Amino acid sequence: MKTLTMKFGGTSVGSPEAIGNVIAIVQAELQRDQRVMVVVSAFAGVTDLLYETVREAVAGNKWNYLSASQKLRERHLEALTILTTTGPIRDEAQAAIEKLADQHAQLCQAVTILGDVTPRITDAIVTFGERWSSIIVAAALQHAGVNATAYDSGQFIRTDDRHGSATPIWGETETLIRDQLLPLLDQGVTPVLTGFMGMTADGHHTTLGRGGSDYSAAIYAAFTESDELVIWTDVDGVMTTDPRIDQRARVLPNVSYQEVGELAFYGAKVLHPKTVQPILVKNIPMRVRNTFNPQHPGTLIGPQNIPTATVIKAVTSVRHVSLLTVSGRGMLGVPGIAGRTFLATADVGANILMISQASSEQHFCFVVMNNKALEAREAIEAALVDEIEREDVDCVEVMPEVAIVTAVGAGMRGTPGVAGRIFTQMGEAGVNVIAIAQGASEVSVSFVIAEADIDQAVTALHDLALESIAAVNGSG
Ligand code: ADP
Ligand code: ASP
Ligand code: MG
Repeated sequence: MKTLTMKFGGTSVGSPEAIGNVIAIVQAELQRDQRVMVVVSAFAGVTDLLYETVREAVAGNKWNYLSASQKLRERHLEALTILTTTGPIRDEAQAAIEKLADQHAQLCQAVTILGDVTPRITDAIVTFGERWSSIIVAAALQHAGVNATAYDSGQFIRTDDRHGSATPIWGETETLIRDQLLPLLDQGVTPVLTGFMGMTADGHHTTLGRGGSDYSAAIYAAFTESDELVIWTDVDGVMTTDPRIDQRARVLPNVSYQEVGELAFYGAKVLHPKTVQPILVKNIPMRVRNTFNPQHPGTLIGPQNIPTATVIKAVTSVRHVSLLTVSGRGMLGVPGIAGRTFLATADVGANILMISQASSEQHFCFVVMNNKALEAREAIEAALVDEIEREDVDCVEVMPEVAIVTAVGAGMRGTPGVAGRIFTQMGEAGVNVIAIAQGASEVSVSFVIAEADIDQAVTALHDLALESIAAVNGSG
């Protein structure tokens, strides 16, 4: 018997009609005699609203957070009412929803009294969305005759205490899933698990980062040795670019783990960047499919790339980043400057998205998110204080309002002239390229541009991807 892990995103559970599609999809798989594990996101918009209630509570705006809390309670109760009929299934779910809503209001009140919030309390508050949605989806499945039960992933995913972007503790998580979740599947239960969250050993909820439900689902797929992971979302699959930037975006039938890893890391919102990690080592295939168009086969993501002549497969972009440049004539041949720079950057919790160094060794530059740029500069200047005093290093420059644009495609490997074509295209589009980096795997080329040029750059580069696809299709 096959086991499927299926994750449904925010839009896919965002309305009672959408949940109706979810029920039909799950039932169809169960009828094909497959075991199904369901992982759910919060209803669309709920996580954002929960973060908003944290901010309102800190500011002491009692009326605002209480009215948001009331809205959340009503939205979830209304969905339950539409999806179930009077009886024990509805009563039990209703009581659970009300209890969580009471807890939400109480936690916000505690934050207001303290006038401050810790990352731990923030995580406790923002996990309510998935907890509500899992209860409702499980109740709707039960109502449709499925032996479903809602579970809080705090029970199975053990993490460290880095609230806001916690890391799973692999050994303990594997044991919990093997010993406590797999037996439920064996008993014929269809578990409905909360995405996005885990729990520390001392019982505090943590979150895996925004958009983290994809990652949760991959963890469950890996440790239950699932035959397939299906990410059900609101588009037909992984596309050649963000359809909100260029409407000509097309669905890619096949993408390799490596390609999708680059795509997600460099801004394709369709998957959380860590999603491929847990399934890659186990070679578990993943499919991205559309809850609102289940006839479409979606995108298959697997171990190796189907041989393709497509050179540039997809184009992505990351906004809200800054370029930091460390320069100085005295840097030439001095070891350790880059090392200390990156350590200082890591110390302030800034993730480095891209690095580029000119061969002269007189400067190097790298990209971090805007909200960490100034903090990183201060930390680097402190770490290089001696070099700056000796004037070996001039300064650390921050260029805000830039963006990273990335071309992804395994076909670029070993194809001469790709970089030339990319940058000629940028020149023709009138886009100034500020810095360039190529992954060692040659699966991606990234470059930095002014944020204002982003739509133009993505569209122009996407022309190349579409040309490349057309050339392959044309050649049969
Ligand atoms: P979910 O709530 O299902 O997790 P997300 O909103 O997180 O859905 O991700 C799906 C969205 O990602 C799509 O609606 C689309 O607008 C956006 N997106 C950005 N880049 C891409 C891409 N390359 N392929 C597909 N979708 C993309
Ligand atoms: N609900 C969470 C978020 O909005 C996690 C997810 O949807 O994947 O970030
Ligand atoms: Mg998502």
